[in-house]
Amino acid sequence: MESGTVTETSEIAGTPREADSPGQPEQIEVLNPATGEAIATVPVDPPEAVAAAVARVRANQPEWEALGIEGRYRWLGKLRDWLLDNSERILDTMQAETGKVRADASGEPQYLADLINFYGAKASKFIGEEAVRPHTPLLASKKLRVQYRPHPVVGIISPWNFPLILALGDAIPALQAGAAVVVKPSEFTPLGLAEVVQAWKDEIGGPDVFDCVQGVGETGGALVDAVDFVQFTGSDRTGRKVMARAAETLTPVSLELGGKDAMIVLDDADLDRAANAAAWGGMMNSGQICMSVERIYVEEPAYDNFVAKLTAAVGDLRQGADGRSFGKEVGAMTSPNQIGIVEDHVQDAVASGARALAGGKRLPGPGDYFEPTVLVDVDHSMKVMRDETFGPVVGVMKVRDAEEALRLANESRYGLSGSVFGERERAERVARRVECGAVNVNDVLVNYAALDVPMGGWKQSGIGYRHGEPGIKKYCRTESVVITRFGGKREPTWYPYTKARRGLISRIARAFNARDLRRRVGLR
Ligand code: NAD
Repeated sequence: MESGTVTETSEIAGTPREADSPGQPEQIEVLNPATGEAIATVPVDPPEAVAAAVARVRANQPEWEALGIEGRYRWLGKLRDWLLDNSERILDTMQAETGKVRADASGEPQYLADLINFYGAKASKFIGEEAVRPHTPLLASKKLRVQYRPHPVVGIISPWNFPLILALGDAIPALQAGAAVVVKPSEFTPLGLAEVVQAWKDEIGGPDVFDCVQGVGETGGALVDAVDFVQFTGSDRTGRKVMARAAETLTPVSLELGGKDAMIVLDDADLDRAANAAAWGGMMNSGQICMSVERIYVEEPAYDNFVAKLTAAVGDLRQGADGRSFGKEVGAMTSPNQIGIVEDHVQDAVASGARALAGGKRLPGPGDYFEPTVLVDVDHSMKVMRDETFGPVVGVMKVRDAEEALRLANESRYGLSGSVFGERERAERVARRVECGAVNVNDVLVNYAALDVPMGGWKQSGIGYRHGEPGIKKYCRTESVVITRFGGKREPTWYPYTKARRGLISRIARAFNARDLRRRVGLR
């Protein structure tokens, strides 16, 4: 069977999903987290199939690169049109495999269309050939150029929380850069990406430079072994393994890892806006966003008012499966492992004295649902304020002032993004001191839509960036081309060495390199 082929099923086989399991299953049963029902079976690609898929797209990559930026954008433009024309179908698949509510799913095709247009328009500026002036007259006979050549095959390993944004979203700049791409989607959400790859092949008729392979850790490891650059998004735990494996072949990696994003609420903030932002930033996608608001620090005078508004906003959220109706705000937890982590964090906090003002528990089935939860009386001894919860839970702490808020916000092994609410200029001053890759002032999560600026993690939240110029340049190697415009039979630095010629070279070089007249003319 061709890699990535999916069959419908009604059977639940209890596929082992532990990434470290010694052997791989032969197939993956995909469950709908909103109902617990099995919706499809996906055959797993063993290492040989991964190597074969990479070899096939590798053979086609030079032709893809030769199309140039505009030629490749024409193909990606067809993909954009397909995504827009088929968005209802894509959203149905995505909802079925993630348990998201419709509104949370619906941003994915729109983001991808915007991303294709962004890199299509900007690629020439970001990775077009650069003409560089020599820094010294000694190189006046040389023409200097820098060209950006893609890593031939990019391997993308992606998580389950945004199955298209975090797989196709990283493939788009790589393809635009001229690389061939093979994606391994999460074993929990393999269907959406497989559908797009199939459409690229069959409906769009795109060049054979884009494929996917399916499986768990063994398939991911085989992909790392076979490609020239690895783009990984997932937990820092797996990120370490991917980096260690890539080190064996000296393959460069970019890692987009977990977060524990802090929100700071200053006492001069618009508390309605701050509370609404915290509710959305904490609960959107059931809190399963690397950049979710997980910790909130509120200056003392604003604390009671903010907590009351946040609790009311979270208490109003409607939870459940909403099909195409846009009738709910909070969906299911996509991975069964994750709901266990969320429950553990909340129970750990409550056992140490925290109170749940909203939510606080897992809902009875069917489906994997955890109530939108607001915890107070929390502190940094609790897992919920230290480790990534990745669920619909926020912990709120009262702080004396902005200095204490900053100290606590920065007291984390993560540094993905953050937000500060308050009077604009004061909030901006505080925001500039938050230790993370991106910070929003009087908004949350919005930096992800600002494709113009890089997004990436500090500390253990990652290495490398997506979006902006670095988001496409990382897929390229620089090739400096130094062209001799004129010259005789030999350069003065070449053989044979003679005292006279070396002396002349030294005097000329000294004249250019010294910064005072005495040294220029050889006097000390
Ligand atoms: P995960 O680390 O468990 O899995 C990620 C991917 O790695 C999956 O495709 C998985 O099959 C694969 N994998 C597992 N073991 C592997 C191995 N040994 N070698 C190669 N590949 C292997 O992460 P997850 O649970 O799917 O996703 C949740 C995590 O992702 C959270 O920590 C979240 O913060 C993070 N995340 C980060 C970003 C970001 O941009 N920084 C975005 C979304 C999610």
